[in-house]
Amino acid sequence: MSLSKVRDVEVLEGEWECMDCGYIEEGASNRRPKRCPECNAPGSVFEFFEYEDEDWSDDGELEEFEDFDDDLDDDYDYDDDDDD
Ligand SMILES: [Zn+2]
Repeated sequence: MSLSKVRDVEVLEGEWECMDCGYIEEGASNRRPKRCPECNAPGSVFEFFEYEDEDWSDDGELEEFEDFDDDLDDDYDYDDDDDD
């Protein structure tokens, strides 16, 4: 029974992101990159992000993005005016 304790650590699928330069390496949560191939940072700067539900690849996300782009343009104009 005590052996089951070892299996307590769950291996998750996701991606490791270099907090120094933003480089992303896909992999499992128990396979931290040794170092960043982009900026040569040590593996300790990598942070693991678990994959969300596969829902994110749905079309709904795209719609949201377009909306955001429209908003951004509007916001920028207003901000410029305010600065003056
Ligand atoms: Zn890096």
